[in-house]
Amino acid sequence: MAQSYEEMSVMLSVTTELGNEKNLQFNPAKSAMIIFNHTGLGEPREMKIQGKHIEFEDEYKYLGITICNEPNYLLRQEQIWKREAHKALQSLHAQSIWTFNRFEITRIQWMATGVPKLTYANAVLASRASRQITAIFDRTQVAAGKWAMGITAHKVATEFVLGELGWSTFESREAQSKIRYFARISAMDSDRWPRKCLSMMASTNIYTEAIARLNFLKKRFSCTDIPLEYTGDQSARFQLFNEQVKRRIKVKLSEQWTESMSSKSSLTLYRQWKVRGVTVRGLYTNSRGSTLLALARAGMLPTRAHRTKYEPLDPLCTKCGREVETIPHIIMKCEPYHSETNELPRMLGLEGEGDDGTCEETKRTLEEWEDEARRIR
Ligand SMILES: [Zn+2]
Repeated sequence: MAQSYEEMSVMLSVTTELGNEKNLQFNPAKSAMIIFNHTGLGEPREMKIQGKHIEFEDEYKYLGITICNEPNYLLRQEQIWKREAHKALQSLHAQSIWTFNRFEITRIQWMATGVPKLTYANAVLASRASRQITAIFDRTQVAAGKWAMGITAHKVATEFVLGELGWSTFESREAQSKIRYFARISAMDSDRWPRKCLSMMASTNIYTEAIARLNFLKKRFSCTDIPLEYTGDQSARFQLFNEQVKRRIKVKLSEQWTESMSSKSSLTLYRQWKVRGVTVRGLYTNSRGSTLLALARAGMLPTRAHRTKYEPLDPLCTKCGREVETIPHIIMKCEPYHSETNELPRMLGLEGEGDDGTCEETKRTLEEWEDEARRIR
C-alpha cells in the first residue's frame, strides 16, 4: 500500500533487491496494481518488479477474496458471494441423487460444502451490504432445506425448515466468527498490526464496517457482556470465551426461532411439540408420502380448508361430507381428533420415537388422500 507512484516504486525496488538477494523470482503475471484513489498520486510511471512490468487492474483476488477499486472495495466480492450461493444450491440439486436418502445427504452436504464456502472470511469481512448478503445466504439455506424435504415448490415457514434441519442462521454463524476473531485481536501484544488498528480506531472514534457489524451482532445475540478472562500468567482464556459465546448464541438463536414462530398460525401444532433440530431418523425419505408429511408438519398441506383461502371451494371433506377437511381430519381418516391426546403429534412424528411405523402409516394415509383429492378436483 502506498500513497503515490513514487512511494510505490520505492517499495517495489526494495522488494526487488530483497528478491535478488534471497534468490526469489517474482511473477508479475500474478501481481497487479489497483488504484483506490487517484488524488495526490503524482506523475504516473511504469511499475516494475525485478525489471518486469506490472499491470494496473480494477480488481484482484487476494487470499480468496476479490477486492476492487469501487468506492465499496468488496463490491465484486459481494457479486461473487451471491453467485456462489446460487451455485451451492445447484450443486446440491445435481449431487443428491435419488438413490440416496435426499434428506440426510442434503443435510450433511450443505453443512460440509455449502456453509464453509459461503462463510469463508466471515470473521474479518464486512461491508454495508453485509446484512443483505447474509439474508441472501439465509434464503438460499431455506431453499436447500426445502429441497432436502422435497417441498421445493411449496411455501412453508422458514422456522419450520430450520427446525427440521437443525441448522443455524448465517447471521448467527457470522456473529460467532466475528466475536471470536475480534476478541483474539484484542488480546494480541500492542505492537501487532491488527491490535494497533483496533487501538487507532478506538482513539479516533472512526470505526470500520466490520466493527459496526460486530457491535450490531453482539447486541443481537446478547454477547456484549461476555468478558475475555485471563489466567494468572496473563494468557487469554480463549476456549472459555469461545464456549460462552457459542452457548449464548445458541440460546439466543433458539429464542429467536421460538419468537418468530409464535405469530404463525400454520405452526400452531409444530411449535407446541417440536424440539429444534431433533427430527426422527428416517422420517424423511424420497417418497411422495414423505413430502406430504413435511407439508402436514409445516401446517401447509393443501387441504380444502386451506385452499378456501385462495379459491372458491366447499371446505367440507369429500369423503365423509360432514366435517371441514383439515390436516387433523385427513390424518385421523375422518375420525374425530381429540386435541387433549398426543395422537396427532405422534402420527406426525412430532412426538415419540417414530420408529413404530406410525409415520409410515401417516404417509400412506396422505398419499391416498392426495390420490383421491386429485380425482375429485
Ligand atoms: Zn372426512
